[in-house]
Amino acid sequence: MTEGNYEAYCFRCKAKKPVTNPEIITMKTGMNSVKGTCSDCGGKVYKILPKDKKTE
Ligand SMILES: [Zn+2]
Repeated sequence: MTEGNYEAYCFRCKAKKPVTNPEIITMKTGMNSVKGTCSDCGGKVYKILPKDKKTE
């Protein structure tokens, strides 16, 4: 998976938007999430990645 290739739901745009400056965060539960900025409006976006999907 290429960095910068994430999409997350933006609540401002009310649509899925590409994530700028994605930051992968591993939570205590072992799940990965992506935190970044909406490329469209600049708002904060957040997405939980599926557990079985490995980022390689
Ligand atoms: Zn947006």
